[in-house]
Amino acid sequence: MKKIAVYPGSFDPITYGHLDIIRRTLTIFDEVIVAVARNSMKNALFTTEERVALIQEVLKDESRVSVDTFAGLLINYVSSRGAHVIIRGLRAISDFEYEFQIAQMNSTIGQEIETLFMMTSIQYGYLSSSIVKEVCCLNGNVDGFVPMEVKTALRNKYGFDNGNETIIKRS
Ligand code: ADP
Repeated sequence: MKKIAVYPGSFDPITYGHLDIIRRTLTIFDEVIVAVARNSMKNALFTTEERVALIQEVLKDESRVSVDTFAGLLINYVSSRGAHVIIRGLRAISDFEYEFQIAQMNSTIGQEIETLFMMTSIQYGYLSSSIVKEVCCLNGNVDGFVPMEVKTALRNKYGFDNGNETIIKRS
């Protein structure tokens, strides 16, 4: 039987932090379904369809990954896909309380579903879609945070041409 994991999230947009979790999940599971939550964010920058298209583009060479959307209760979606495991990433301690609450609730109402947490890789510990959007909308260089296709999409959204950004220096 194939081991399938569902990796749910907003992915507005997908970052190297998400990609790292997906690649590491593939070392444990046969297949990963990246599940983009519909309507999870009131102020999303990208539409659900745009988010899906970007994930498909950056993962086009990974045959064991598929991209889907879901609405409603995550555990119902996970069961409907024949999976038993939800993958979530953990960065700072601040992620923990929220994730713990959701995982507890999901294990109570969907007893056959497990949530597995994967620690962020050290270089992505402070990387989030929100911070990438903040840097990009100020014309900062997001090369180290997102793949080129995502960078282009972000810069188009913010009305910048693609190539003339400010290099943000870390001091
Ligand atoms: P959500 O709104 O569901 O948190 P996100 O797209 O922000 O959606 O995140 C999806 C999942 O990916 C979450 O489990 C989040 O903790 C994880 N994640 C996001 N960025 C990183 C990162 N840099 N390192 C590890 N996990 C991450």
